[in-house]
Amino acid sequence: MTTVAEVLQGGARALQSHSDSPRLDAELLLGKILGLSRSGLIAHGNEILGVDSERNYAGLIDKRLHGEPVAYLTGSREFWSLPLKVTPAVLVPRPETEVLVDLALQRLPPDRASSVLDLGTGSGAIALAIASERPRARVTGVDISPQALDVARQNSRDLGLARIDWRLGSWFSPVAAERFDIIVANPPYVAAADPALKALAAEPAIALSVGPTGLEALQEIAGAAAAHLHTQGWLIMEHGCDQAQAVAQMLERHGFTHVCSHLDLSGRPRVTLGTVHSPHQEPT
Ligand code: GLN
Repeated sequence: MTTVAEVLQGGARALQSHSDSPRLDAELLLGKILGLSRSGLIAHGNEILGVDSERNYAGLIDKRLHGEPVAYLTGSREFWSLPLKVTPAVLVPRPETEVLVDLALQRLPPDRASSVLDLGTGSGAIALAIASERPRARVTGVDISPQALDVARQNSRDLGLARIDWRLGSWFSPVAAERFDIIVANPPYVAAADPALKALAAEPAIALSVGPTGLEALQEIAGAAAAHLHTQGWLIMEHGCDQAQAVAQMLERHGFTHVCSHLDLSGRPRVTLGTVHSPHQEPT
């Protein structure tokens, strides 16, 4: 007979060499099975775990050991304090992406109507975070994957943020003749041969990598964005920590000014932005 506390300890030990956060993973997985929060698990630490729960838990720990992200096993992940549903059709939202949300919010006065486009929205994390903070913003989320958009749509319903306009298609194609105040994107930016992809194998490949350099999607968005921005609008893109200079240069090449890169929570350049000051050609 094993107590909740002992089972947690065993789970964390098993995950020690497979996860950066073994204790947290163990708690989230057991919490999912028992329907308890992390503090609930501590409060019930001395209770004996049922045989079925113990078996289910061992199954989840095993999947985690084989590289499955915790968020896919629990079916949810918190982003910007919003509980989001996630499935293997979408990238697991990362804390570093909150930097991008913050930079967008700084450029969206709460008392003014505005328009925001989130390209490659996936679970809808960025679009939902912005919509939750700026009720007056008209937010559009685009994704090429119908399965991803289903997840985003469900998240917007669950969170009561149903006014987001979800559109299916590749980058700007579903918003062909439209302009926005802010365009945000966390596009696939991992180089195709990057060994880091091995550790990300459970996540949708199309959300991570689309070309040899990792700059391909960033380039495509940077090249088309000005035609979809209002004057003084901003393009804000997440990128790899070694891509800041390349992204800044591509933005400048495409006529953006005030180009600047920002660090993520671990101090690495992760988000680059720029603005357009003169009216650009009509979208084609
Ligand atoms: N931040 C992710 C990672 O490196 C990559 C996400 C992306 O390509 N947009 O784990």
